[in-house]
Amino acid sequence: MNTCPVYRRSGGYSYTYFIPGPIGINLGMLKAPLHYHDNVSACSLCYSCSFVCPAKVDLAEQIYLWRQDLDKLGKADRMKKVMSGGMKYMMNRPSVFNMALKWAPLANGMPRFLIYNGLNDWGKGREMPKFSKESFNEMWKKGKVK
Ligand code: SF4
Repeated sequence: MNTCPVYRRSGGYSYTYFIPGPIGINLGMLKAPLHYHDNVSACSLCYSCSFVCPAKVDLAEQIYLWRQDLDKLGKADRMKKVMSGGMKYMMNRPSVFNMALKWAPLANGMPRFLIYNGLNDWGKGREMPKFSKESFNEMWKKGKVK
């Protein structure tokens, strides 16, 4: 539990199954996936729990496999599916990806209501970080990143 960045930030009460953390996510899914599926998506898949497990139980890999089952259970988040489809499209087309990176800083000057509205769950309690004027790739090429 204590190696999990999600558990460390959210605490035990944010888990639906009575056992929190990586073990609880897996046990909850074994017990009743329709009731305890929500924490599968909260995992960042950092794999820290798998690396520290003294018994070499690959908890993160199992969570990754559970996540692939969410759609079959009818529990995959629709908005995340749309976003994933968009990311897949962009990642498979480097020219589209680089164009999106180039134009992303324009979002910094957008009116607030266009970014913080009912479609943006993430922005309900948080401020979006500003896009950098230069991408990591551009900074790397200029030798600004070592
Ligand atoms: S892989 Fe998921 S459950 Fe495991 S430590 Fe990382 S965030 Fe926590």
